[in-house]
Amino acid sequence: MVKAIFPRAVQLIIVLILAALISSVIWNQFIMKDKNTAQDYRTLSMFSPDLIISYQEKYPSNWKDYIAILSAQHQIKDQNESIIIDLHKQISEETSFKDLVWPDKYPEYIKTAKYYRTILDKYPVYTPGNYEFPLKEPSYFVDTYGADREGGERTHEGTDLFDEKGTPILNVCDGKVEKLGWNRLGGERVGVRGDDGNYYYYAHLDEINKDLTIGEKITKGELIGTMGNTGDAITTPDHLHFGIELPDGEWLNPYPLLKVWEYHGFGKR
Ligand SMILES: [Zn+2]
Repeated sequence: MVKAIFPRAVQLIIVLILAALISSVIWNQFIMKDKNTAQDYRTLSMFSPDLIISYQEKYPSNWKDYIAILSAQHQIKDQNESIIIDLHKQISEETSFKDLVWPDKYPEYIKTAKYYRTILDKYPVYTPGNYEFPLKEPSYFVDTYGADREGGERTHEGTDLFDEKGTPILNVCDGKVEKLGWNRLGGERVGVRGDDGNYYYYAHLDEINKDLTIGEKITKGELIGTMGNTGDAITTPDHLHFGIELPDGEWLNPYPLLKVWEYHGFGKR
């Protein structure tokens, strides 16, 4: 009797262990991966575009090192600035990031700076050459991400770029056309699934490029359409509403990215 039960219990344990392993793989691969990616992008969108631009201008080969050590500064509570000055000096003397000599204290600062350095490589949204500004010329735009819309019914989940009706709108990165045509808020809109996994949303177009087809490849710089004020922008001046939806469904603030892409395209800062 006991002999018969024991193997069955062992079998059950093995099945349970396997089930736990499989679900942990699924959880990590699909759910946590998207959440971590979103967290990484959110962190990147907190960086100052002005700081990035000024360091890219001065130090084109190691700007990421500087941005990582400077953007993590808030972790140093007592304003002991010699730590930053010392790291800054090491980088300016061509010490590579992995060979930097870190301070003995402030483990949180060190951890954060290293994390920032990793995501600057992993998601190269600020690296020149990977993304293109969606207009052919600099434009007027401010950071209105999170502002109230429809009397507080929802918030603004993108950046509005203002120019004349008919201004050509260009695709910001290589990908595939995912959505085309009309929706209530966006009016004439195009959605592109970037090769980076993000969804790029171009709304209020006057006309969509007729050569685009859902499911077809679209390259960086290709024509999306022309600027207009269709959809809920009908009472506003012509503008492009540009949005970036992360794989977990969250809308990223595209403003700092646009600022840096505009600088890469036109030297405007
Ligand atoms: Zn908008």
